[in-house]
Amino acid sequence: MKDEVMTNIVSLLESDETFAEIVEKILREAERYLCTSHAAVLQVSTDGKLINTVISYAGEGELPLKINNIPKSKFLIGSDELKCCATGRCSEEEKYALEAFGVRSSVVVPIFINDSCAMYFAVFDVRNELCFDKVRMQFIRDVSRIIQSIAQKKVTNNSLLSSYEVLRDILSSIGSGIMVFDKHGDEIYFENDVARKTDEVRRTIQKCVKERVIRQDNAKKPENDEETETERPIEHYDPESGLWFEIKFSDLTWIDGSAVIVCTAVDITQKKKNQQKIEYQANNDFLTGLYNRMKCELDLRNIIRDAVCSNQKGALMFIDLDDFKHINDGLGHQYGDLLLQQIAAGLQGIPGLRGHCYRMGGDEFVVIVKPEQFIGISKIIKNVVALFNRPWYLRGTEYFCTMSMGVATFPDNSDDVHEIVKMADMAMYDAKRSGKNRYNFYDGSKNHNTVQRLDIENNMRQAVASQIHEFVVFYQPVVDTVTKKCMSCEALVRWDSKALGFMGPGDFIPLAEYLGLITDIGDYVLEEACRQCKIWNDKGYKDFHINVNLSVVQLLQQNVVENVGRILSRTGVNPRNIVLEITESFAINDMERVLKIISGLKALGPRIALDDFGTGYSSLNYIKQLPLNIIKVDKTFIDDIVEDEYAQAFVKLIVDLSKTIGTQIVVEGIEDIEQYNLLKKIGVNYIQGYYFGKPVPANQFEFEYLGKVLNDNK
Ligand code: C2E
Ligand code: CA
Ligand code: CA
Repeated sequence: MKDEVMTNIVSLLESDETFAEIVEKILREAERYLCTSHAAVLQVSTDGKLINTVISYAGEGELPLKINNIPKSKFLIGSDELKCCATGRCSEEEKYALEAFGVRSSVVVPIFINDSCAMYFAVFDVRNELCFDKVRMQFIRDVSRIIQSIAQKKVTNNSLLSSYEVLRDILSSIGSGIMVFDKHGDEIYFENDVARKTDEVRRTIQKCVKERVIRQDNAKKPENDEETETERPIEHYDPESGLWFEIKFSDLTWIDGSAVIVCTAVDITQKKKNQQKIEYQANNDFLTGLYNRMKCELDLRNIIRDAVCSNQKGALMFIDLDDFKHINDGLGHQYGDLLLQQIAAGLQGIPGLRGHCYRMGGDEFVVIVKPEQFIGISKIIKNVVALFNRPWYLRGTEYFCTMSMGVATFPDNSDDVHEIVKMADMAMYDAKRSGKNRYNFYDGSKNHNTVQRLDIENNMRQAVASQIHEFVVFYQPVVDTVTKKCMSCEALVRWDSKALGFMGPGDFIPLAEYLGLITDIGDYVLEEACRQCKIWNDKGYKDFHINVNLSVVQLLQQNVVENVGRILSRTGVNPRNIVLEITESFAINDMERVLKIISGLKALGPRIALDDFGTGYSSLNYIKQLPLNIIKVDKTFIDDIVEDEYAQAFVKLIVDLSKTIGTQIVVEGIEDIEQYNLLKKIGVNYIQGYYFGKPVPANQFEFEYLGKVLNDNK
C-alpha cells in the first residue's frame, strides 16, 4: 500500500497541472496510507507572521479545519523543524494550540523554498492521539520533500536538478523495484536499490519492458501521452522465483529531457494467493469439489464462443437426480452428501469429462461436452447412464439413485449461455415427466414451456391446499382370465383442474413428487379408494378389492405406516380388500429399510403388489426376499409379446416362479385379443388393459364392470 501510494505520488512530479491541483492529489493519496482525519499544506505570509491554508484535505465525514490568519507564534511550530504533538504527550502550550483547532494529534513538517521556510505540510487527527512509527514519519518526510520539489520547480521554473535528487532518494527507499529505460528499453538510466539487488525484480522488469516495446512497435501507435497515462498495470509471473509482480509503466521526460520509460514492479504474490483462494471459493462447490454454477456459465460462454468461431458443435447435459430429496431425508444429510460426492467423483471419472462437470446446486449437475469431444457424445451419454445404473455404497448397503438428463447442443439450439442451460433443463424436465431414469435431447418444436410448468406448480399448490376435490379417482378393471370376472381394479388419479383442464397422472405426478405434494394427493387417493371399496363391499361384492399406488416419496415418509393405518381405520374398509402397489425403484434401495416398511404396511392388513415389474433393476432373486403378494408385469413386456419370443419366455418364467414363491401375477397393458390369448396360454391369471377397459369414474365402473363377467371378444 505504502509503495503503491508513493509510486503514485512520485508520478505527480511530472504533472503539468497547477501546484494546487497536484498538491490536492498528493494529500488525497497520502491519506490513503496515513488514514488520519486531516492533512493540509499551509503557507506562511510574505511578512512571515501569519499561517494560511493553501490546500486542505478532510477525511470522510469530517468537517474541514479552519486554519486561516493564525499568528505563527500561536501555531504549532515554534522553530522551523518537524514537530510531532499529541494532546497527552506535549507541553501545556502545545496542547493549548492543538485544542484551538480541535485537534488531538499533529505532525507538521516545514517546507523550504530557496532556503527559507515558506510552507508546512501538516497531518492532523481530530479523533485520536496518534503516535507515528518510523516508517510513517519517513513517509511524511518524503511526501513533504516531493511537495517541496514541486513548489521549488514551480518557483524556479523547472529546477531539474533538485527534483532529480529528491527523486533518486525517494525512489531508492521505496519497497518496489523501479527502473528507468530509454524509450527503446535498451539503456538503463536508473534503477533503485530493490531493482539492483533483487534478481527476480530486475529480470521481470527487463522482460516486461522489452515486451512492451515490442507490443507498442507492433501496434505502431503514435506516442500519445494521454493514452499511455491510463495504461493498465499488468500482472507478471516469474516462474523462476514463483513470484507475481504488478508492473506499471509510465512514459516520462527524464531529467536530461529525453523520453524515458519508468517501470515499477511490486511484489503481489501474497495478494495473488489470496485472490486465487477467493477465486477457488467463488468457482467451486464446497461439498463435491466440482466447479459451481458461476464457473459453468463462465466456461460455457467461452466454449460456445470458440464453437461458433470454429464452426463446431458442443453440448450441455443437465442431470437431476431422481427422488434425491427423499433419499436425503430418509438416510440423513450426511449420507446424502456422501452420495453427491460419489456421484461427482463418478462423473469426473468418465473419460473426457474431468474439469467439465459442475454442480449447479442441490442435486443438479451439469456436464459440458466440448467441441473436441462432441463426436463421442453418444459414448459419453452411455457412460453417464451406466454410472447411474450401478449402485452406490452408503452405510454398507447398496443404493440405487437414478437420474433424469436433458441435453441441449450449441450453437444450433442456441448460442446464449442462459438459454442453453434452460433448454437442457427443460429437456431434463421432460425426461422426468416421461417417467424419470432416462435422457432426452432438447426438441425446439416441442412446447416445453417453463411458464406452463410454473402455472402447474402454483395451481397444484392451491388445489392441494384448498381444492383437493379437483383430484378425482378413476378405476380400471382387473380381470380373472379363468372366470372372466372383474373382482378387482386399480385406482388411478386424474386432476380435473378448473384452471388448467383435465390431466392424466403423467402430466402432474412427477412434479407433485418433485414439489413434495404427492403425499397429500396420495393420501387423498387412498382415502377415496378405501371409501369406494367399502361402498362396493357393502353392496354385496364382499371380496372385491382395489389397488392403490404409493409413490416412493410417500413410502419414505417417516410415518408412512401410521398414516396408512389411520386412513384404513377412518374409512372402515376391510384392509384385506386393499392392495398397495409399490414400484420397483422403491424396492431396490436399502433392503433392511424396505423390508421394515413393507412388513409394517402388511401388518395393517393390505396386500402388497410390486408394480412396473421389468422396467427397473430387480432380479428375480431380489424379489424372492420381499414379502410380496402380487407382481404386476409392465406393459413394455407385453407390447411386442406376440412376436417377441424372449418376452414370452420371460413372462412364462415369472408365472412359473410366482407359483413357487406364492405370488399372483397381473399383466398390464393388454390391448388386443392376440395378446390376451397368448397370456392366457402361458398361464397368466389376471389381466389389466384397455382390452377389457380403460380407467373410468366410480359410477361408470360400477355400472360396467363391478363383479361382472366380461365378454372376451369385446
Ligand atoms: P401404473 O401404476 O403402471 O398404472 C397403469 C397405467 O397404464 C395407467 O395409466 C393405465 O391407464 C395405463 N394402462 C392400463 N392398460 C393400458 C393399456 O392397455 N394400454 C395403455 N396404453 N395403457 C394402459 P395412467 O392412469 O395414466 O397412470 C400412469 C401412472 O401414474 C401409473 O402407472 C402410476 O404409476 C401413476 N399413478 C396413477 N395414479 C396414481 C396415484 O394415485 N398415486 C401414485 N403415486 N401414482 C399414480
Ligand atoms: Ca400401478
Ligand atoms: Ca404399472
